Amino acid sequence: MTQQPQDLEIWFLTGSQHLYGPEVIDQVADHAAQIAAALDASPHLPLRVVTKPVLTESDSIRRALLDATATDSCVGVIAWMHTFSPAKMWITGLDALRKPLLHLHTQANQALPWAEIDMDFMNLNQAAHGDREFASVQTRMGVSRKTVTGHVEDPEVARRVGVWARAALGRHALAGMRLARFGDNMRNVAVTDGDKVEAERRFGVSVNTWGVNDLVAVVDEVADIDIDKLCQEYADSYDVAAELLPGGERHESLRYGARIELGLRAFLTDGGFTAFTSNFEDLGGLRQLPGLAVQRLMADGYGFGGEGDWKTSTMLRTLKVVADGLPGGTSFMEDYTYHLVPGEELILGAHMLEVCPSIAVARPSLEIHPLGIGDREDPVRLVFDAAPGPGVVLGTADLGERFRFVANEIEVVAPVEPLPNLPVARAVWRPAPDLRTSTEAWLVAGGPHHTVLSTALTSEHLDDLAEMLSTELVLIDADTTVRGLTKELRWNAAYHRLAQGL
Ligand code: MN
Repeated sequence: MTQQPQDLEIWFLTGSQHLYGPEVIDQVADHAAQIAAALDASPHLPLRVVTKPVLTESDSIRRALLDATATDSCVGVIAWMHTFSPAKMWITGLDALRKPLLHLHTQANQALPWAEIDMDFMNLNQAAHGDREFASVQTRMGVSRKTVTGHVEDPEVARRVGVWARAALGRHALAGMRLARFGDNMRNVAVTDGDKVEAERRFGVSVNTWGVNDLVAVVDEVADIDIDKLCQEYADSYDVAAELLPGGERHESLRYGARIELGLRAFLTDGGFTAFTSNFEDLGGLRQLPGLAVQRLMADGYGFGGEGDWKTSTMLRTLKVVADGLPGGTSFMEDYTYHLVPGEELILGAHMLEVCPSIAVARPSLEIHPLGIGDREDPVRLVFDAAPGPGVVLGTADLGERFRFVANEIEVVAPVEPLPNLPVARAVWRPAPDLRTSTEAWLVAGGPHHTVLSTALTSEHLDDLAEMLSTELVLIDADTTVRGLTKELRWNAAYHRLAQGL
């Protein structure tokens, strides 16, 4: 659908200076290559880590960071000062860098060779102060970055670098994303609307609307033979209700669902779109609200938001890229209704139809049921429960002057009882720290009702991504209190107003 992680790379840059002579610089280069190779080989990093020549003066530093910025396949830069690299040399380069930066505070040796340490060793292994010099200039310049300390043999180092690298892949996908909206937002709804110009400036995503009948024209052209094949794929993948199978009295409804999927897929592929929205108020010549088609496209990595919600669609696609290849799933979600029994509080999330089967606990069933809204024929949809496990939900709010991410650490759990009469896919979760604090904090932060739910990602992925996007992340977790969070929102408001300039 877009560039694959194996085509993308992180650049590993090591700073030094000429003072030490060529033999020391050669040793620095060897050590840098070993550390980069160890990161490259780690399963935590889904992309290549490429070692660049040791940087020893301002012109080459500036050139390297300009090249990183201009190279499409480079999604981020790791920097390490093995020796001392006077940081005024880094100022013009850092000023030119427009890619995510990770400051790796490490050294070549894990244990100090106490009995052998001489001044040559001290000259070579001085990141403890070389990286402080580098960090001081980054902080003075307000350079956004992640700082990771530790030896490369410490598994926590590769894990945390890997989380950052995944966030960088998400940022990369977001920066060139094209999102197709079929129709506008649901009428009069505030939270799904927002500033598309600011989204392009801040995130790089291009959000544009197409008339739904442009899609209908493609849907109507789909060949019957392709529908036959797709219906067979449905039968192989899901427990299909008997009435929808060939010969069943509602088989034609399944065929129309397949027609929508094939048409939608063709429209998105032809236009280079990786995310889209629909709106049940504006279905033009579509005979069903797209349900099954949306679910299957999400499972293939597309972003989606209901009721014209392009912000959630954008972040769903982004987080699917961040999560690609990890266990767990990532879906469009909506906070729907609560279980408020004291001590057992839970949130039941669902949508009219569009929940991604990547979060399903078992093989979904493919069913048809009436839909009370949309004024169309009954839509086909996949029905399932979400698999239990830890996860996060992320919502995006447009505050008018800027965007805010609101996230909550959650535990997806099995439904307390079966839900035989609920004809849609759903997830049940326990929010941290508890439902009362979580929801009061979410409401105070102005978080939306549409979210991205992921059991593949952690709040560290979200934190790294928000940092790269210079966007506030309000995280509700085990340590949250409403009072503390309210103060955080006020401080953040002051910070972000100042950070945007006067
Ligand atoms: Mn909705």
